Amino acid sequence: MNKNQVALDRHKTSNSITRVVDSTHWLSWLHHAKLIHFTHRGSDITAGAQSPGLIFPTTAIFSYSSASPTGGLAESTLVGNEGIVGLWLLSPKTISTVGISLQTPGFGIVIAADFLHREISHSSEFRQALLNHANASVWYATQTCFCYRHHTIEQQVSKTILLTLLRTGRDEVQMSHQMIAGVLGIRREAVSKALEHLQKLNLIEQKRCCIVVRQPTALASEACECYPLIRAQLGYSLLAA
Ligand SMILES: [Zn+2]
Repeated sequence: MNKNQVALDRHKTSNSITRVVDSTHWLSWLHHAKLIHFTHRGSDITAGAQSPGLIFPTTAIFSYSSASPTGGLAESTLVGNEGIVGLWLLSPKTISTVGISLQTPGFGIVIAADFLHREISHSSEFRQALLNHANASVWYATQTCFCYRHHTIEQQVSKTILLTLLRTGRDEVQMSHQMIAGVLGIRREAVSKALEHLQKLNLIEQKRCCIVVRQPTALASEACECYPLIRAQLGYSLLAA
């Protein structure tokens, strides 16, 4: 077993979809899999020739967002180790996609679309995991629209920080105020004010490089109801177990 395969085996267990692939099928996946370290925050991962294949994030987080010609930006969903990026590559039709960019640097397993297309018919576990993820993604996008309209900025900022922590497994978030504002489609000043309030409560500590979460449980009580709902819907209770 070479070093690359050992690393892929280790990362396989970190993504909720690759985790369901049984060991026999996984041997054939390995011939089509690459472990990639995504480092360029904000880089665009779009459909077509630029896409390296379907990405199963293990520590990286990707953001689906819409942008207006005047510079407005709002995220609809984040995808981390609970899901997959690039489902449109499995469709025989040309589908227009929203922008997808790297939100948090980290690793992902990249697998060629033509292999996965065949694998859908061979593996019922993989097929079911994809359907579960597609259903959860639709629900997540709908809940995010509800959140923008009905929940306060402090609640949304708390939710965004906590969802990033869940996906990375770390206690710090490497996001600037501007990045959080871009994700939520709000002004940077509003994010700074919310973070200041959370810091005064000693729930977070703002450092030059990142935001360190001091009390995740207490921060969860500042977040909106979307946080536990999204956490449960995306299966994070299972990942945390
Ligand atoms: Zn909410």
